[in-house]
Amino acid sequence: MTASSTNQTTRGPSSEDVRALATAVDEHRLGRLINDLAAFGARDDGGVNRQALTKDDFRGRRFLIDLARGYGATAHQDTIGNLFFRVEGSDPHALPVVTGSHADSQPTGGKLDGAYGVCAAIEVLAALRDSGVSHRRPVEAVIWTNEEGCRFPPGSMGASAFTDPGLLAGFLGTADKDGITVEEELSAVVADFSDVPSRPLGAPLAAFVEAHIEQGPILEAVGIPVGVVRGIQGTRWFEVETTGVAAHAGSTPKGARDDALRKATAIASDAYRLFAAGDDNLRLTIGRMNVAPGSINVIPERVSFSVDLRHPETATLESAESTLRSIVASQDGATIARVMEMPPTPFDEVIQRTIADAARLLGIPAVPIDSGAFHDSLHLAGHAPTGMVFVPSRGGLSHNPNEYTDLTDLATGTRVLAATVLALAND
Ligand SMILES: [Zn+2]
Repeated sequence: MTASSTNQTTRGPSSEDVRALATAVDEHRLGRLINDLAAFGARDDGGVNRQALTKDDFRGRRFLIDLARGYGATAHQDTIGNLFFRVEGSDPHALPVVTGSHADSQPTGGKLDGAYGVCAAIEVLAALRDSGVSHRRPVEAVIWTNEEGCRFPPGSMGASAFTDPGLLAGFLGTADKDGITVEEELSAVVADFSDVPSRPLGAPLAAFVEAHIEQGPILEAVGIPVGVVRGIQGTRWFEVETTGVAAHAGSTPKGARDDALRKATAIASDAYRLFAAGDDNLRLTIGRMNVAPGSINVIPERVSFSVDLRHPETATLESAESTLRSIVASQDGATIARVMEMPPTPFDEVIQRTIADAARLLGIPAVPIDSGAFHDSLHLAGHAPTGMVFVPSRGGLSHNPNEYTDLTDLATGTRVLAATVLALAND
């Protein structure tokens, strides 16, 4: 045991090393990198359309491989196309600290969703080289394949196949709308990136940290540049169905009408009341409603609609679900089925503390925050100690060409990321 003193920590980087590394993070180099990457799949309106495993995705990857090699990293890929850029530490046998995100975008994407976490990770490699600070563990920047899932569902294919290799076989046969499969596109990777050695899926990691734009309005509202993400909220999806009797809109009197849509809207309005009365973190969305037969002059005989329910705590999700079920049960013949459940995923407390300590040491304000969206980290959290660093999103906007974060905030988040990685690589 170390004695209680001002220098209680015998391991971990010195505060001088942490500051030297943070200083070596170059705001303008980071800004250039983000813009350079955004040129692959650039849209006319300033946004990015770089869907997974497209030519633009491959060209972007080639650009990043060459760049990372220039910073002294070695490149590896695995069988789902995840790319790793590795710089060795003093102990070649230690498990690596890994940071990164995804490089694919939505068709209407901006320059930052995913790309920021990739560019920040590569900037960490550049800052490690420039500062010359020592680290025991290897540090790797990673690009996870197909997080968005818009071309090849489901999303987070790369991260989930990495942590659960049994999923790979099912993913390979997935086809896009033109019938091109993941397997066909990945065979192009083998040809195009024959200079990049392969490694197996599922390698153990010491830790994973992902930098990402918030994609929500909270950090901007409180005016704080860094969010220490506590976890990803839980999600439950439901299908609700109501039935009635199709009948003539004009000749069926009030007392004789059995209207499926009247029941569905009664359920929906009670559900919105539940939502309004719940705590601020409760989210309820009715995003899709189908009315049959869907004719202007026929009383609806069947209505189905979706409910998306989210909250960071299981107990709240549980009670919201049971209220929703009793609302549905109050309408004659209405049914509800849960079709998907993603439990809340809390991030590792040591990683959260390491991020918060890194921000404090650098004098950077940071607040705890929950993630409203899914991320690659959701899958990594079951595989290695995992955490996320958020930076503000102007107007909370994402999956939109106008996605924007001040370059100063992007660099601030990268400094906290770098300091966190250094601490974890010297634990
Ligand atoms: Zn993303």
